[in-house]
Amino acid sequence: MKSIAAELAYFLRGRAKQNLKYLFLYCAFLVGMILVYAVLFRYLMLHLEGRDFSLIAGIYWAITVMTTLGFGDITFHTDTGYIFAAVVTVSGVVFLLIILPFGLISLFLAPWIEHRLRYRPTIELPRETAGHVLIFGIDAVTRTLIRRLQASHIPFVVVTPDNSEALRLEEEEGIRVVWGSPTDPQVLGGLRVAAARYVIANLSDPENVNLCLSLRAQCDTPIAALVSEAAHGELVRLAGANQVIPLHKILGRYLATHATTQGAMAHLLDSFGSLQIAEIPVHGTPFSGQTLAEAQVRQRTGLAVIGLWERGLFTTPTADSLLDDEALMVLAGTREQLDALEKLTGEQPADDLVFILGHGRIGCAAATFLDRKPVPFILVDREENPACDEHVPIYGDATGRLVLKQAGIERARGLIVTTNDDSTNIFLTLASRHTQPHIRIVARANHDENVPQLYAAGADFVVSNASVGANILLNIIESKASAFLTEGINVFRRSLPARLAGQTIAASQIRPKTGCSIVALEPPGGGEPAVVPPPETVLAEGMGLILIGSPEQEEHFSRLFPKAK
Ligand code: ADP
Ligand code: ZN
Repeated sequence: MKSIAAELAYFLRGRAKQNLKYLFLYCAFLVGMILVYAVLFRYLMLHLEGRDFSLIAGIYWAITVMTTLGFGDITFHTDTGYIFAAVVTVSGVVFLLIILPFGLISLFLAPWIEHRLRYRPTIELPRETAGHVLIFGIDAVTRTLIRRLQASHIPFVVVTPDNSEALRLEEEEGIRVVWGSPTDPQVLGGLRVAAARYVIANLSDPENVNLCLSLRAQCDTPIAALVSEAAHGELVRLAGANQVIPLHKILGRYLATHATTQGAMAHLLDSFGSLQIAEIPVHGTPFSGQTLAEAQVRQRTGLAVIGLWERGLFTTPTADSLLDDEALMVLAGTREQLDALEKLTGEQPADDLVFILGHGRIGCAAATFLDRKPVPFILVDREENPACDEHVPIYGDATGRLVLKQAGIERARGLIVTTNDDSTNIFLTLASRHTQPHIRIVARANHDENVPQLYAAGADFVVSNASVGANILLNIIESKASAFLTEGINVFRRSLPARLAGQTIAASQIRPKTGCSIVALEPPGGGEPAVVPPPETVLAEGMGLILIGSPEQEEHFSRLFPKAK
């Protein structure tokens, strides 16, 4: 169905679209002609033969005569009438039976066939191709990755065994494609795999295993493989993948950490030596409702609050930022300091309960993660998950009016909305926000473009599968010292740009110029990093900077302070 639509779309572009206009004009001309004949027919019948016919009968007569069907049920009986009928027949043959089919063939069919025949998919890359990323398997994740690669000017090639997909990607989306079977050694040779920068294996798990083995027989190019079942990760790694990404498990875990309302659920995001970056919901901590200055997080735990997430918006806090009950704090400090915070926030409240709507791979992973904490949860799904024998969900359509109510949704403190349909997710988010204004809602977006709608519907946190997957892959490809924090925020490490040595942090203008904030300074020659140094700190040569910012801000920083060669 999709490919028929794609073929039809061909007629709505360029020359074909112009020709379509001519076709419409010609059809209008034919309709006009039929009407004129119908009117003349009535006039002649009435005046020559004294018979009165309706206009419809006239149209019917003109069409049957023009198409040479001539049933003979309505005929003239005068010479003038015969002549008129003959003229109508001849003009029908010329305009309807000769010119029209001829036009259709030459304006539409022939160019279309030519277009199809002319397309020769690339089956081999030029010999000198090097440093490219090879992408096997195109879906929402790799499409987002492609956009990021384009933005970062990293060359890439998509490999597909499907001729019409190759045509579509290349001609309609301008994506560089090679057509061929991913496990054919000859195809792999033509892809210049040995010179490639990275291979992204995004096929089914068995196909990924096959691909990794075929690649490993030829070269050592690093491979990053997305696996759909975490349990298959080990096999894919054995087959030769360097990085295995169980995306569903990562997403499930990610949703789970954001949905819980417990304070003592610090989620470790990243670490740089002894410096740890963690996320923790404000809810459940003693800081709720206070400003950052009042909360005295630093004085009480040694931890620095380096960021705040509120309904998807990341900000760098100031002393009078309010620690809203629904916000998440991003903290920097040592493991001991994080432990101190966990002690401060105390035992888990007994009444924590998370509802998980959707027991697919992601919902199941979220449940497994909560189970380990342990945080009580209730799963709702309309179907059985054949891959899970661990959880017992409540069966029913979550959008049904009573299903959630009967499951006891009003007791829930957190809600994970993770069905495979974004409209359902938006609906469930809106409905739950409406009935429970204070519940913590974490929603999954299957398509990037639905992220704003989910926030608008009232989600506290939205995780987009495609962005998360693409972010992880891009970080791997760029082998950055930055880890995936959350949608659009990175913590990354850079050496101090030489021209900033000797200046204070305030004078360096890093934040006003790039939007990135300094999380910590690593002293030259190693040692304990100074977390969130005050603005008057002097930057010394050889220091390491640990910064936080969005990918755009990070790029801004790289452009302003290019890495020394
Ligand atoms: P993934 O594996 O990526 O999580 P799935 O498609 O396997 O994605 O999972 C989505 C789950 O959501 C399925 O188990 C499906 O039955 C469930 N689901 C979809 N719509 C509804 C709904 N309206 N009510 C309850 N469950 C739903
Ligand atoms: Zn499960």
